[in-house]
Amino acid sequence: MKPTIVIGGGLMGSATAWHLAQQGESVILLEQQDSIYTSGSSLGESRISRSLGPEGDIYAYLQIRGIEETQKLIDFLNTKEPGKHSMEDIYSTSPVTYIFYPKTSEEIAVFNLNKPDTLPASSGDSIAFAPDVETAMKKFGMQLPDSLKVIREYQKYSGTMNPSVLIQKLHKAISYTDNEVRYNQRVDQLKRIDQGYQLTIQDTKNQNNQIVEASKIVAAAGPYNGKLLQHISPVIDELITPKRLFLAFLKIKPSVYNNWSAAQKDKLLNGYPIIKLHDELFYSMIEGYDSDGVPILKVGGHFKRTPITNLDEVWTIPLSTEEKEWSARETIEYLQMNGLDIEEDNLDFHSGYSCVYSLTKSEVPYVINLPMSDGTLDRNAVLVGGMSGVGAKGTMTYGHLAANLLFGKKGSNDRMYEITQKALGNERLESDLIELSSEN
Ligand SMILES: Cc1cc2nc3c(=O)[nH]c(=O)nc-3n(C[C@H](O)[C@H](O)[C@H](O)COP(=O)(O)OP(=O)(O)OC[C@H]3O[C@@H](n4cnc5c(N)ncnc54)[C@H](O)[C@@H]3O)c2cc1C
Repeated sequence: MKPTIVIGGGLMGSATAWHLAQQGESVILLEQQDSIYTSGSSLGESRISRSLGPEGDIYAYLQIRGIEETQKLIDFLNTKEPGKHSMEDIYSTSPVTYIFYPKTSEEIAVFNLNKPDTLPASSGDSIAFAPDVETAMKKFGMQLPDSLKVIREYQKYSGTMNPSVLIQKLHKAISYTDNEVRYNQRVDQLKRIDQGYQLTIQDTKNQNNQIVEASKIVAAAGPYNGKLLQHISPVIDELITPKRLFLAFLKIKPSVYNNWSAAQKDKLLNGYPIIKLHDELFYSMIEGYDSDGVPILKVGGHFKRTPITNLDEVWTIPLSTEEKEWSARETIEYLQMNGLDIEEDNLDFHSGYSCVYSLTKSEVPYVINLPMSDGTLDRNAVLVGGMSGVGAKGTMTYGHLAANLLFGKKGSNDRMYEITQKALGNERLESDLIELSSEN
């Protein structure tokens, strides 16, 4: 029996391969990079993990269900390596702060905040709400301009998650099920054959080519999905578009940070991660600590994304002066809102890099069967892609959905599971395809 091959060992491919392995399928995960990654949407040590959302919000569900699935992964690993694995290896729990600007303020209504500090029904979040300047000062010690409102979410495993640790644990777990993760294996060609697929794979270390057959495939190549699928499902390239993003890493001057009191340092810790819901959508989190103990703040702008001319080269584009200045300005503004004693020249640009994520038209990810040229869907091939800047926190749920779709399993009777499956799945794909053909 030929195995299932999952192409791409980022968060999505790794989670899908793990779910398949856990369900008893024979699976090979192929990744073009070496085991220490230097590119990919999942690169790095932190992503915001959060679950605030209105009733029925699929992103809240994806995160909450993902936490349950991560716990199962940890439990499995501890049966093999007792006591060595914990949820805290992956998640750092801390408050998540959302600042709403005038244009986004009306969105607050959907969070059912009529009873401040109570729980929106869907996600069970514990939240605190400051609808005005006085409450922001009283609850969070924040000095806000008049027009802004703040929500702070406190929930176990909301805060940040570490994609690199999650990927390593998933790969370890896959290997423990006697399935394989193969690094330095780039899929250069994909062909449908009588019973399944033929993959031409290059070993990126020695350039040797190999042909391998699979009964089923999963495309989880992140920004490379369009290119990967160009011969067997060319329309994917029109349905998802890679975009360049930047990440800036900023460091408060040690002479300033070290002068802060313990209470001020705590305020900084409690203030991250932060999402400012303005036109550019600023987000920031603590990526880690420098060797001198000063935190490194990671900064990005969800809507400060740009088109890509060369996907292989985009990763090396340096940050522009505007991107660096914007990151510093937004950070200083936020730290000052928290009453922290800091000026613009107290913040150093530590490092930065360009990265990529891919977007569907509605910016909602896909977990779909591959559309074929005759308009039908290939039930033996699944794409998990178009993950935008929201995928990481729901990784384990996307993987679960993808594995279930590939083997035609219902997955769960949970109503939110069904709603999520529908929002990401084939039904939406079919309406996107109709829309696309009317545009062409
Ligand atoms: C800047 C940025 C910030 C983000 N912030 C957040 C956040 O705060 N919270 C959140 O929830 N989400 C966030 N996300 C989203 C999240 O990180 C992504 O949704 C997720 O990492 C996507 O994973 P992936 O597996 O689809 O893609 P990738 O990580 O890109 O994985 C694809 C893998 O496939 C490999 N590959 C490609 N082509 C081939 C081939 N032909 N053969 C073999 N292997 C191949 C690549 O090397 C890569 O490792 C952010 C994303 C970015 C870029």
